[in-house]
Amino acid sequence: MRTAMLYGPRDIRFEERETPRITQPTDAVVRLSVTSICGSDLWPYRGIQAVTGPTPMGHEYCGIVEEVGRAVTKIKPGQFVIGSFFASDNTCPNCQNGYQSSCQHRELVGGAQASVLRVPLAEGTLVATQDVPQQDLIPSFQAVSDVMGTGWFAADAANVKQGTTVVVVGDGAVGLLAVLSARQMGAERIIAMSRHESRQRLAREFGATDIVAERGQAGEARVMELTRGIGADSVPECVGTQESMTQAIQCARRGGYVSYVGVPHAVDLKGEELFFAHVHLHGGPAPVRRFLPKLIDLVWSGKINPGKVFDLALPLEQVAEGYRAMDERRAIKALLRP
Ligand SMILES: [Zn+2]
Repeated sequence: MRTAMLYGPRDIRFEERETPRITQPTDAVVRLSVTSICGSDLWPYRGIQAVTGPTPMGHEYCGIVEEVGRAVTKIKPGQFVIGSFFASDNTCPNCQNGYQSSCQHRELVGGAQASVLRVPLAEGTLVATQDVPQQDLIPSFQAVSDVMGTGWFAADAANVKQGTTVVVVGDGAVGLLAVLSARQMGAERIIAMSRHESRQRLAREFGATDIVAERGQAGEARVMELTRGIGADSVPECVGTQESMTQAIQCARRGGYVSYVGVPHAVDLKGEELFFAHVHLHGGPAPVRRFLPKLIDLVWSGKINPGKVFDLALPLEQVAEGYRAMDERRAIKALLRP
């Protein structure tokens, strides 16, 4: 089997690696229907996050169960399943509280840019669909595995409710799906901050009511103008840089909510500024597992189509081109077909 491996900055190779098999009784082995590249894969790809040696890439996945360990009883071979980037037992106190990405037994899933994947803690991690889906639904189920789950958490953690005003900071796939999530949750006004025309178009399609192309102080001023000088009730921050985090806090109203779901890189918040900002902050690695059953239903019933964020589809062997296209912002998100 061949897998996408990162050797160093901008050095992705698609090379032979042993096909995963069951190693623990709680494992499942899944034949992937599709796979994809995440915005967070770009941090090590760009060399901003160091890799110590050749690293198998990919953590977004869905497909057909091939084999399960002897302790796995509810997930069965032949089922179509979706998991997320942290494997979790779904039984410990953190899981019970809905924070499966902080499971006491969590394991990072890696090596999903391949045709076969070993999933640890399969019973807690994987959710099966009612039936094997039609091909046209598969990109949307793939999106549910990470970006849609993360976008939903961004909106949920920012307390989006019926009638609220939302500002989404970040126009990557997660930001765009935070727009879609806010729409589903009944937000009245959704302001998407984006400078790119193709992303603005998708944001509008997903439910954005206003677009703000300005950034920094000019962006804040425009948001204040649109919210009568008050700021937004909810601000999902979907990037993870100092600029985006500062922007998010500045756009929230007093007593408003800021969520942050992108892995922070060199973000430094000043205590005093935070003190006087008067905002709620809630974020972290999205507990996608909490939302899987609901999001699977929404996709299955045709209420959401998050697969639209994939604007590039390639055969898996062209994975390196997928990274290049996303790095150069020629593509929002690349879908790879094994
Ligand atoms: Zn747990």
